[in-house]
Order: sequence, then structure tokens, then C-alpha cells
Amino acid sequence: MRHLTSGKVYIVGAGPGDPELITVKAMRRIQEAEVILYDRLISKELLSYASPEAERVYCGKAPGSHAMSQQLINEALVHYAREGKTVVRLKGGDPLVFGRGAEEALALAAWGIPYEIVPGITSAIGAAAAAGIPVTHREYAASFACVTGSRCHGDKSPIRWDLLAHSVDTLAIYMGVSELPAIREELLKHGKAASTPVALIERGTTPQQRTLIGTLSDIHTIAVSMKLSNPALIIIGEVVRVRERLLHAEQQALQQIG
Ligand code: SAH
Repeated sequence: MRHLTSGKVYIVGAGPGDPELITVKAMRRIQEAEVILYDRLISKELLSYASPEAERVYCGKAPGSHAMSQQLINEALVHYAREGKTVVRLKGGDPLVFGRGAEEALALAAWGIPYEIVPGITSAIGAAAAAGIPVTHREYAASFACVTGSRCHGDKSPIRWDLLAHSVDTLAIYMGVSELPAIREELLKHGKAASTPVALIERGTTPQQRTLIGTLSDIHTIAVSMKLSNPALIIIGEVVRVRERLLHAEQQALQQIG
């Protein structure tokens, strides 16, 4: 049943962290919004571009705790849209990459509420680029996969580490920091070389970005000793070597100039 007076909901990707990495379309939707429901990982600077009158609703979920359940978020979206409001649902990275944007779209569709999805730069792409790591490269990688490092209770499809270890060149693992020892074990068990380079990128594309480099065999020790914290991405694959080559080339160029 369609509500004739219904507003519209924009499910918008805020990009990976740096507020300038948002799309023009997403920025326009923020400026036009009457209500913004936003997540924890978005840059708060983006909220300052909204109208001062726009209602701002925090829906963030800190790891392990839930500020607002997915059910409540869905209900809030429906509620505001049925009041005739223009609603922006602002999510980190891309709303459909481990973002539960599709669950929200389904809830809206069930109520006949119009919605639109505005994609964003997902954090794997953003953070890898900011760390000088290409996810593909003619010499090193012809494929990459975005993988979740943790499966929620009730999730049906298991992570196929057995296949991922062999069939994909670059693995970009989200939500994997607390699972790093288990991920490492799975990949080693399925034949990934212990010498495979690994990068951990913490708070990618923000001024606090930190990149730790190691191999599959020592990366967990490095993560613990450097107190790696969330949000962070794990990039596994030969492409990590490009970062070293870039740094080396930059140093040489600087020496020549100097
Ligand atoms: N929809 C988001 C992902 C949400 S899942 C996207 O497309 O990027 C949350 C996970 O994303 C975090 O656990 C972390 O692995 C990753 N992440 C989000 N922002 C990040 C950032 N700035 N730097 C590194 N990883 C980030």
C-alpha cells in the first residue's frame, strides 16, 4: 500500500572517512534533508552541511553494544517518511557493502515508501588507496574480494576461506580485527603462504590513519604490539608490496631533488 503523502528516504554512502570523499549527489541529499539518521563511522563534519533545522538522529552501534537495533532504525525510517519528510540515512562507506542498506530498502519497499540508494566509496577502496596499495595491479593481482571477518549469529552463508585462500589475489577484510588470529589460521591451513604480505589500515583516509605492514605469519603480533584498534581493514596479498615500492620511489625522488 503506497502512502500518498509519503516522503522519500535516501540511503546514502558517506564514503570511507575523509568527508571530502563523499559524492556530489550524497552531499546534495544531505543539504536537502529534513531528517538525517546517521551511523557511528561517518565523518561528523558532514552533518554540518545539513540545514540547521534538520533533525539529526544518531543510530550508531559501538562494537558489542547497540545504540539502536536494526528493527528500530527501520521503524524510524518508515515513521519519518510517513510524516512526509525527506529523510537521509547516512552510512559509512557504501551503504550496500556490509552496510545493511538492503535491509532498510526492503523495509521501506514493504511499506510502499519511495527510496533511493546513493552509493559511496567503500572503506576498502578508500583506505587501500590512502595507504598506497592498489587492490589490483597488472603484476600482482587480477582480482580482489571484499570479505567480512566476522559472521553474525544466524548468518547463513559461511566464509569460504578454503576458496578465498586460492582463488582471489587480494583479500580486503572488513570487521576482522578481533578475528585476526582465526583468519590467519584459516588462510594458512588452506595453503596461503606464511610470507604473503599483509597491511592493516586503521582509520583509513582520516588524519589519524595508521598503516601496519607484516606478513601472514607475524601480522597478529604486530597488531597486538601496536595496539591496533577499530575501524581497521586487513589487506592481504602481493599488492601490499606496491606500497613499499611507492615509498622507495618517493624517497629516491626526494634525495635527487635535495
Ligand atoms: N559500509 C561500510 C562498511 C561497514 S562495516 C563500507 O562500505 O566501508 C565496518 C567495517 O568497515 C569496519 O569494521 C572496518 O573494517 C571497515 N572500515 C570502515 N571505515 C574504515 C576506515 N576509515 N578505515 C579502515 N576500515 C574502515
